[in-house]
Amino acid sequence: MKKYTHLLFDLDHTLWDYDSNVRDSLTELFTDYNLGSLGNPDFELFFEAFQATNHLLWEQFNKGLIDKDELRAMRFKEVFNRAQLPLSEIPKDLEEQFILRTSSKAKVMDHAFETLDFLKTKYQLHIITNGFNLSQYNKLKSSKLDTYFDLIVTSENSGFRKPDKRIFEHALLHLKAEASHCLMIGDNPLSDIQGAQNAEIDQVYYNPLNTESEVNPTYRIRHLSELIKIL
Ligand SMILES: [Mg+2]
Repeated sequence: MKKYTHLLFDLDHTLWDYDSNVRDSLTELFTDYNLGSLGNPDFELFFEAFQATNHLLWEQFNKGLIDKDELRAMRFKEVFNRAQLPLSEIPKDLEEQFILRTSSKAKVMDHAFETLDFLKTKYQLHIITNGFNLSQYNKLKSSKLDTYFDLIVTSENSGFRKPDKRIFEHALLHLKAEASHCLMIGDNPLSDIQGAQNAEIDQVYYNPLNTESEVNPTYRIRHLSELIKIL
């Protein structure tokens, strides 16, 4: 496989283990703010409410329906609503603490480092993420993923969000690269796979849980280490 020179990676849920890191930071916050005393002592219910809410808000963000500030202002209000906890009891700095603590967590997806170690010897590696500058830079640093990547494109520093093809074109311009020499690797059928297709970039759909989706990517993998076989 010699035709690619640049590999474009998504960050959250693709390299950086979003779900595990969020679970860890919410576990800390649940204890530190004594959230279990507000009406439901079960952390798992709180976590489920967070996951469902956060997923919906990020879907809306990716579709351009809400912006960063709205996402952050709405997040814990919606979580408290869904978990049937009193909105008047939301700690003032909960969102800020959530962002700080979550982005300081280091867990990465299985086989991330050995796969990147192999790929780094053969390709230029970059990040294209819909996340926000400070959080994404912190995540890269905390997890020690930062040393692998040359260009980091975020929705904030590019002004565009996947699946908009302009975020990919922004990357191509900076890299002085042709779309046909790039390969996008990500877990999100819409933002990563449809997005790269919009920009005529080949795609690897990383689907570790083998969830159903109607995408038709160039390649499919369930483990990051499968990239070594493809590339
Ligand atoms: Mg992702």
